[in-house]
Amino acid sequence: MIFVTGGCGFIGSCFVLDWLAAEKEPLVNIDALTYAGHLGNLQAVARHPNYTFVHADIRDAALMRDLMLQHKPRAIVHFAAESHVDRSIAAPLEFVETNVMGTVNLLKAAQALAESGDEAGFRFVHVSTDEVFGSLETSDPAFRESNRYEPNSPYSASKAASDHFVRAWFHTFGLATITTNCSNNYGPRQFPEKLIPLVIHNALRGQRLPVYGDGKQVRDWLHVSDHCAALRAVLARGQPGETYNIGGRSELANIDVVRSICATLDELRPRATPHADLI
Ligand code: NAD
Repeated sequence: MIFVTGGCGFIGSCFVLDWLAAEKEPLVNIDALTYAGHLGNLQAVARHPNYTFVHADIRDAALMRDLMLQHKPRAIVHFAAESHVDRSIAAPLEFVETNVMGTVNLLKAAQALAESGDEAGFRFVHVSTDEVFGSLETSDPAFRESNRYEPNSPYSASKAASDHFVRAWFHTFGLATITTNCSNNYGPRQFPEKLIPLVIHNALRGQRLPVYGDGKQVRDWLHVSDHCAALRAVLARGQPGETYNIGGRSELANIDVVRSICATLDELRPRATPHADLI
């Protein structure tokens, strides 16, 4: 059986739903149900025979160790994190506690499982972001795994720190860790503080559409199901100690994302003036 952390959030819930539809292997979902985690995201599988939910916080080191030794999963796919850049500017310490300390707690718990001799074939898949590499200019090529780490926000700095600890547990303790760095995801069940759902919600209500600066910041976009398919491939075929970038080769400036949502809404929900006037 496998462990998933943060399975009630945006990407984690997609992974859990896709896993239970495609695989026969049981899955235990560990989630603290913060503002970003909703049991309703997984209502469709709440009674699935291969699904178990554990309401627990990855900051609780002793509990993580107990869960690991009790269930002896053959892998963990670690999504749980504070994930919103704006919140990391307002409250950076929470990002250090969950993203850095929480990840180290899970690494130590997995190490305890390895030392108990029950770890044959174990994999620790750490789900991270390409924001650890900094930002792209319009003419830049896509990020590569060899790019230098240049985190620019407390969020990306905390994810970068967690990536380093994951790497260290492979080199120091021989734990079979793999890190993935994915670009921006879009798709169903994303909390409406993130760009695409926020713009859709606000536009439908005739509210202002916030865009930072000139909106020229370039991000790559990938559908969340494609990210989860890549994670299943990494879990099945990834090499311990490796890192894998995951992207959609779909780079767009933020302002262009917002303008294309406005154009689509002009067709689907026309209003007296174009939605783009709200930007
Ligand atoms: P999210 O904010 O939607 O969900 C986070 C989940 O983690 C929630 O269910 C929340 O309850 C849970 N959680 C938070 N703190 C916890 C704690 N201390 N203990 C247990 N559970 C806790 O996040 P998301 O967008 O689904 O992102 C998931 C992962 O993917 C994160 O690690 C993020 O850094 C990474 N990632 C996200 C994106 C993106 O575009 N959203 C892109 C690349 C990587």
